[in-house]
Amino acid sequence: MNIILFGPPGAGKGTQADILVKFYELHKVSTGDLLRDEIKNNTDVGNKIKLLMDRGELVPDDIINNLITKILSKKKFDNRLIFDGYPRNLNQAKKLDLLLKEYKQRISSVFSLEVNRESIIKRVIGRQICSSCGLIFNKYYRPAISKNHTCDPKYLNKRSDDNESTIINRFETWSDKTLPILNYYKQQNLLHQINGMGEINEIFEKIHVIIASLEA
Ligand code: AMP
Repeated sequence: MNIILFGPPGAGKGTQADILVKFYELHKVSTGDLLRDEIKNNTDVGNKIKLLMDRGELVPDDIINNLITKILSKKKFDNRLIFDGYPRNLNQAKKLDLLLKEYKQRISSVFSLEVNRESIIKRVIGRQICSSCGLIFNKYYRPAISKNHTCDPKYLNKRSDDNESTIINRFETWSDKTLPILNYYKQQNLLHQINGMGEINEIFEKIHVIIASLEA
């Protein structure tokens, strides 16, 4: 099964993806994480995209398509992918369909996490990511405490684009460029809209029930 998690920045896609990865033994493809790795590793691509990411704009499709092709071509990920933050526009969605066809795969479902603008801003401003274990926390909604996190708190970091001015731009980019994809997947009967405002486990349960009904 290949899944797409869809939703605005801060909707909880990364958090749900991490749970689904463990539960269904999937491989997470977060284009945001892949791009941040390029920046961290000081690659040519990394140097080209830093400014765009800091402004909350999309990076060019050819860069994204290259990253995705590398992953889809790996046999070990065959039908085991969960896409988080990809595709981000209609061109990417169509290119993904072509690539999936080439590698004889398909999308099983698209889960759209629906969260209002006010919560998104609070979620993004409070987000903390552990650079050691990769877990995602939120200092307002889900703080890292000894019960849920065993690493030293010094590893908790904020993303450089998780600030108030960038999030407004990211949200606008999402509304203009990414939201139109929803219809593309709706027309293919792949779309499941989920209220993303509840507890993490409740949201996972809703996704899990839908996946179980599709597999039955
Ligand atoms: P994310 O981690 O998904 O919130 O993405 C962080 C930033 O990376 C976005 O604001 C974009 O600048 C860039 N980005 C991530 N995924 C994509 C994508 N599929 N297409 C274009 N830009 C992307």
